[in-house]
Amino acid sequence: MKVARSVTLEEVRIEEVADPVPAPGEVVCDVLACGVCASDVTDWYVSAKLPAVLGHEPTGVVTAVGEGLNTVALGDRVVIHHHAPCGECRRCRRGHETLCERFRSTGLEPGGFAERVRVSADLVDELLVLPDGLDSYVATMVEPLACVIRAQDRASLRAGDSLLVVGAGCNGLLHIAAARARGVEVVWVRELRPERLALAEAWGAEHHGNELVDVAMVCTPKPEAIAAAAQALAPGGTLCLYAPPAPDSPPPFDGTSLFLRELAVTASYSAGPGDMRAALQSILDGTIDPAPLITHRLTLPETARALSLQRRGEALKAVVVPQGDGAGL
Ligand SMILES: [Zn+2]
Ligand SMILES: [Zn+2]
Repeated sequence: MKVARSVTLEEVRIEEVADPVPAPGEVVCDVLACGVCASDVTDWYVSAKLPAVLGHEPTGVVTAVGEGLNTVALGDRVVIHHHAPCGECRRCRRGHETLCERFRSTGLEPGGFAERVRVSADLVDELLVLPDGLDSYVATMVEPLACVIRAQDRASLRAGDSLLVVGAGCNGLLHIAAARARGVEVVWVRELRPERLALAEAWGAEHHGNELVDVAMVCTPKPEAIAAAAQALAPGGTLCLYAPPAPDSPPPFDGTSLFLRELAVTASYSAGPGDMRAALQSILDGTIDPAPLITHRLTLPETARALSLQRRGEALKAVVVPQGDGAGL
């Protein structure tokens, strides 16, 4: 089979590797589509992993089932989550399942930008089978939306609150939609690019001036944007870091300000199984429609271009489609 292996940040090689074979309890899926995540193009974050087959937002169809498995069947279309928590350790029990050691050690083999993936037994339990009506491209948005839902939970965002979303890329727009679904009273947005600001307004956010907010969700790693978001917090407010700030970034506010205003600062990484199910459900019941966010569909040999479109901010969401020759995309 073919895989798209990122060798450096810019160079992606299409390689021929052996087809994966499922061990007992495992499955192999043909990858139908796999989204490019912002983390795939966050240079300092991803360069530590290279060389690697990136891609952790895949949907697939089950093409081989290992011995002893009867929970999934050949032909099932599935959303494949790339990590699985143990559900029992101290971190899992305290709600930090994305910090669970098993969560961190599980992963797709070789990665979503490949014709096929092997899904380990740990991950098979987390497969979400797609109903007929749901498009495999749109279903790649389950994982990003799950991350958004988890971040809003971690920031204790409630109906009636006000929210500031900083950055109106794919994740920012998902935050706007998910907040509205949650009954947030008003969603403010900060975004430098006029066309994205207009899009955020179309999704139901208002352009932020100097209003104080209960929660600020920062979807950019820029230190000045994080600091500005912290300034916009009302007393008792919560700042949530949704994009990873680069190493050695300055803290968003000083201890005095934090104490006097009783501010909270939190962060959210990835998503757990419950978040994945909640995200799929909100797409299925029509509460959130992420379909318009997918602006680019590319073939596996075009993976480098998909990454570059995402890196340059030209794509809201680029999706790689490994099967076929790209006709009809
Ligand atoms: Zn991601
Ligand atoms: Zn655990």
